[in-house]
Amino acid sequence: MFALIRQSRLELVQGDITQQQVDAIVNAANSELAGGGGVDGAIHRAGGPQLMAETDRLYPDGCQTGSAVATGAGRLNARFVFHAVGPIWEGGHSGEPALLAGAYRRCLELAMEHNCQSVAFPAISTGVYGYPKNRAAETSLAAVCAFLQTHNQPALVRFVLFDAGTLAAYSQALETLTRDS
Ligand code: ADP
Repeated sequence: MFALIRQSRLELVQGDITQQQVDAIVNAANSELAGGGGVDGAIHRAGGPQLMAETDRLYPDGCQTGSAVATGAGRLNARFVFHAVGPIWEGGHSGEPALLAGAYRRCLELAMEHNCQSVAFPAISTGVYGYPKNRAAETSLAAVCAFLQTHNQPALVRFVLFDAGTLAAYSQALETLTRDS
């Protein structure tokens, strides 16, 4: 599924984010940038040790929740990895939506700063961080759409959803969002 938002294309696909050929691949990291399981483990495995060497050297204090930092992409088919830190779901009244939206927005700002025309995102916070998928979908897609509306770039934003259930949740949210706007 896709939507055209001003000059950008917003795509939802099912797949493995480590196999994407884009300018920047977004990782769902933890605030220590310490490595983990899920998409983070997959990205570090596929990208190789350069990623951890760079996060250790450039960001020894880690990254705040709701933000993101950039490294090179090692062996991945990309120029950069943006390590984004989404919130842990604590019931929804601890500022989770603003933090999740902030993580996506910061990645899109990094894309502009590094001249990236294409960015691939995973469903940040929806794995071990426990964010309900339908709510994460709504908040994440609204943040990305709002950014594309006002900045007209990057040209391509692709959400790479790992399983059919996640793709369905994000497709439903995008349909609602584009119907209502
Ligand atoms: P978080 O800690 O932010 O919840 P996780 O890595 O646990 O991060 O999960 C985030 C999402 O990434 C989940 O929906 C999970 O299914 C998905 N995921 C796991 N591996 C991959 C992958 N290789 N490509 C894309 N998405 C992935």
